[in-house]
This record gives sequence, structure tokens and C-alpha cells, in this order.
Amino acid sequence: MSYPAHPDLDALTALDRDHLIHPVAPWRKHEQRGVTMLESGQGAWLRDAAGHELLDAFAGLWCVNVGYGRESVVRAAAEQMRKLPYATGYFHFGSEPAIRLAAKLVEISPPSLTRVYLTLGGSEAIDAAIRLITQYYNNTGRPAKKHFIALERGYHGSSSMGAGLTALPVFHRGFDMPLPNQHTIPSPYAYRGEHRDDQALIDASVSALRAKVEALGPERVAAFFCEPIQGSGGVIVPPKGWLKAMREAARSLDILFVVDEVITGFGRTGPMFACDAEDVDPDLMTLAKGLTAGYAPMGALLMSEQVYAGIADGAPAGAPIGHGATYSAHPVSAAIALEVLRLYEDGSEADGGGLLAHGRRVAPHFAAALDGLRDHPLVGDVRHRGLLGAIELVSDKATKRGFDASLGLSDRLFDSGYRNGLVFRSFGDHILGFAPALCFTADEFTLFERRLRKTLDEVLSAPDVR
Ligand code: PMP
Repeated sequence: MSYPAHPDLDALTALDRDHLIHPVAPWRKHEQRGVTMLESGQGAWLRDAAGHELLDAFAGLWCVNVGYGRESVVRAAAEQMRKLPYATGYFHFGSEPAIRLAAKLVEISPPSLTRVYLTLGGSEAIDAAIRLITQYYNNTGRPAKKHFIALERGYHGSSSMGAGLTALPVFHRGFDMPLPNQHTIPSPYAYRGEHRDDQALIDASVSALRAKVEALGPERVAAFFCEPIQGSGGVIVPPKGWLKAMREAARSLDILFVVDEVITGFGRTGPMFACDAEDVDPDLMTLAKGLTAGYAPMGALLMSEQVYAGIADGAPAGAPIGHGATYSAHPVSAAIALEVLRLYEDGSEADGGGLLAHGRRVAPHFAAALDGLRDHPLVGDVRHRGLLGAIELVSDKATKRGFDASLGLSDRLFDSGYRNGLVFRSFGDHILGFAPALCFTADEFTLFERRLRKTLDEVLSAPDVR
């Protein structure tokens, strides 16, 4: 369906080109291409300013898990803004929504986690984790433990320390990253790695972590960071049991285990957290995205009592722990998060509640839509868990060869998808990722499959691609 374009679209496009810097964009190319201005949303649907209606199979940026246009969330925000739009969390101040949210996150997260630091988003949660882990070891008499290990293809935000743990070339190039104390081990990438057998893949990751810790010296290693499913690295889904095995390995190596559930949290993979599926109890956990479902910025760093106490009791008595921001524990974001959490857990379908259960009910439709593409001649791999998935395109299934970068496949797929009324994300030139909102219906998945297939057929049958 089409709608009238925004009357000022051309003028706004020019202003955008001249002034607005876009995150993770090729700046000069963006000036030529121009902005795709989004205008409004309802449920799983977006409208852009040019008048197109689009099925959003990426929930914004894997965050709008409850869908667009949730009136109860808008009301929660408006009520808190009216009552008290801002309260600092500095020193000894606080606000009711922030306190209730911290308690709620402790209630629903793995039992090991008892303390919550509320941030502005995922990058800041990762940054807080790195800083506070450093403080933890300094305060508990092990100041040599300063080295961090993460996974190749991992994504842990773009703060000046977190971007080093993000192991994707564009986040390092030109930024003098990674830092000398940041290291990686291979990711559990069955399709492209040496091991396709589940147990062999798990054993290989455990051995790689052990070997890296041994090489660095166990007394110098602080922590291992990982996503339960690697998102921005191309939706790499490790076998069941992998997360638990890595947790146990970290424990036996005497390093902290940090689970980054910024994408996988809040029902994205089925349970509230991916950790729940394997009874994993991390030392620290980072959250964002689905926490407020994109209705306002917020993230969280959760930590165990042991880490909290190590920091608190090792600091000079009465001295502040010097970490915080003006908008830490923002009351409006916290009020939004509380309502979003209610929508995940409770409430009737009629008021839009019970979305976790709904997401689990519709996930088989998502799986079927992607699995139905396995026999496509250019689809090399299909992977998914819950409402998180990807397809990996290859020019030759036998050799798993990708496509020539000069084809600009990523842009062509995105543009064709867009023309067909479908939004998804591409990673490199050959991986398409999907993270639909938890409110998608079975009919919307049928439409998703139809539009995706049409897009693939259109682009992949072009004479220069075949
Ligand atoms: N960790 C993971 C796993 C993420 O996917 C992201 C964002 N894509 C971040 C951290 C950073 O979060 P933010 O963009 O909110 O800073």
C-alpha cells in the first residue's frame, strides 16, 4: 500500500545530507544515497516518509520487540514525564521506576545476579562492565587481571573500550583497536568453521578459551565476554550446551563470565533470557534493546553479589565509585521498561500482553519461513532460534563461495526487499538477518516468506549474479 509522501521530504533529505551524521554508515556514500526517513509505525509495520508501507522483519534494530504503537507504553512514559521527568541517580538520589525496575530485573534474571546498574544503552553497559571488572580486581588484590577475551565476530558496542571487544573490522579500522589487553578466540560458526558436529564445536570453543587463558597467564585474565547467539557477526547460533560449557570453563579458569544478552534478552530466543535455556548463571550480564523495546534509550549491567561486594568493600570507606552518567537510571526510560516487561510477561492478548508466550507460539512459522528457503540454489545455510535468524547466501553450495564484492549484493538485496515492502538487515554481502517483533502474527510470517522469496529471486536471478 502507498501513502502520500511527506510534504517536506526533499528539504529534509537535503538537511540530512548537509548536517546529520549517521551511525555505522559510509558517510560520503550516505550523502549520495540520501536518507530513508521513517515516519510512523504500528505493530510490525512501518511507514516511511516517501509513502511506502513496510513489514519490519528486524524490529527496528533488533529492539522493538513489542511492536510499534503500544499505547500503554506511551501512557507510562507520559505519566512519568508529567510527574517527574528526571531524577538523578547520583549520590543517594533515586526514583520509584528505577528502583522497581532493578528489583524486577533481579527477579527475572538468573539467580546469580542480584545488583543492577542502569545505563543509556548496550554500549554503555559493556563499557561499565569493563570498567567495573577492572575496579573489582584492583579492589580485591588481583590487579594483574586486566586481559579480556571475547569471540571473533562478536559485537559488544562501540564505546572506546567496548569497540575493542567487538571483533568486526570496521569497528577497529582507523580507531587503533583492539586495545593491547583485548583478545579473541574463534566463534562457534558451524557453517564456516572446522567443526560441524555439535560436541566437537563445543569442545573446540572450550579448548580455545583454555589455550588463550594459558597463553596469557591465568593470573592476568579478567573475563570472557560472549553473546549467546552472535548477532551483528551474522547471527551465529551455537549448539545447545555451548553457553553452559563456556560458563563452566570460565569458572574453572577463575575468570569472570560476562553474557551479553543485549539482543538475545527479553524473549528473542524463546525464554526471557538465552541463559535460561541452559540454566547458566553468569557473573555479569548486559542488557538493552528489548528492555525498553526501543521506546526510549536504556541498558543495564547486572552483576553477582560477589562482584558487587568486591567493588563496594574494596574501595576506600565512604569514597564514591566514580562511574556514572547524568541519565543513568533515567526515570522515564525505567517507567517504559516496567510497562514493556509487563507486556512480555502478563496481560491478555487483548491488551497486547503475554508477548513472550505469543512469540514462542509463532516462532515455528518464522522457522518454517526460513527453512523453506534451504532448497534455494543460492542459500548455503539457514539458522535460527526463537525469533532470531539468518540465511547465508553462496554462489556455489559445494564450495560455499560467496559473491564478488563488486556486485554490491548487500545494497541490491536491501533495495529489492524494500521495494517488495520488507525490511531486514544484511551482514557483509552474503548474510541476511531477521529479528521480527514478538507480536508478529502467523499471517505476517506468510507475507514475510513471500516477500523474502521474491526478493531473493529478483536479485539472485540477475545475469551478473547467476
Ligand atoms: N551488545 C550487543 C550484543 C549488541 O548487539 C549491541 C547493539 N547492537 C550492543 C551490545 C550495543 O548496544 P547499543 O547499540 O545499545 O549501544
